[in-house]
Amino acid sequence: MSIPTRKIIKHDLVKLLSEIGPLTTIDVYSSLAEKWQLTHQELSSKRSGASLYQNEIRWARQELAIEGIIARPSESGRAVWRMNTGICFSKSISPDDIDTSASYPEGATKTVSVNAYERSNEARKKCLEHYGYRCIVCALDFESIYGAIGKGCIHVHHLVEISSIGAEYQVDPLNDLVPICPNCHYIAHQRRPAFTVKELKSMIATNARKSST
Ligand SMILES: [Zn+2]
Ligand SMILES: [Zn+2]
Repeated sequence: MSIPTRKIIKHDLVKLLSEIGPLTTIDVYSSLAEKWQLTHQELSSKRSGASLYQNEIRWARQELAIEGIIARPSESGRAVWRMNTGICFSKSISPDDIDTSASYPEGATKTVSVNAYERSNEARKKCLEHYGYRCIVCALDFESIYGAIGKGCIHVHHLVEISSIGAEYQVDPLNDLVPICPNCHYIAHQRRPAFTVKELKSMIATNARKSST
C-alpha cells in the first residue's frame, strides 16, 4: 500500500488516537506506517528535503486540529498527539461530530468541516438556550454536582443519524439536538442507529426497578 489519501490519513489518525489515547509523534508515525504496511522506500521518500510520509501526517493533524477534532499542538504539546476531549459544548467534539466506525467504507469518515463545525456550535448554543444544561435522559446537571466549574458543561446529541446527513443538511437546534450527559451519550452510541431518548429512559427505569426489588 502506498501513502493513503488525506481523507484516509485523517480517518486512521482519529481512529488511532481515540482507540489508544495520546501518542508521541514518533509513535504516530510508526503506528500508521505499520497499519498501512509502508515499505522502507515509501517511508524514506522525500519532497524538497522533507519526509513525504511525515509531512502528509502532519497536514492531517493540522486539518483535524482546525476542525476541533484533535487537540491543537499548542494545547497538547507539539510532541503529543491526542483527541480534543473536554466536555463543555463550546470546546468539545462529541461522538456525533466524528464517526470513526469501521462500518464506513475506507475514507468515507464523516468529518465536520470548519464551517459546519461553527454552524453546529451555533446550533448547540440555540439547543441549550432552549433545553438548558440538564441531561435529557437522566436529568444530571453538572453545575449542581460540581459547582461553578460544571456550568455549561454538557454534550449535545444529534437525533439525526450523522451518516444520513448530506452536505446540505441544516441542523434544526430544537428538533434535531438534545442536551445529554457524557454517560448517557456513551450508552446511546452503543448501537447504530443510536438508542432513542425514550429507549435510554426506559433502560434506566427498568434497571432502577430491578435493583429496588
Ligand atoms: Zn444522562
Ligand atoms: Zn450522540
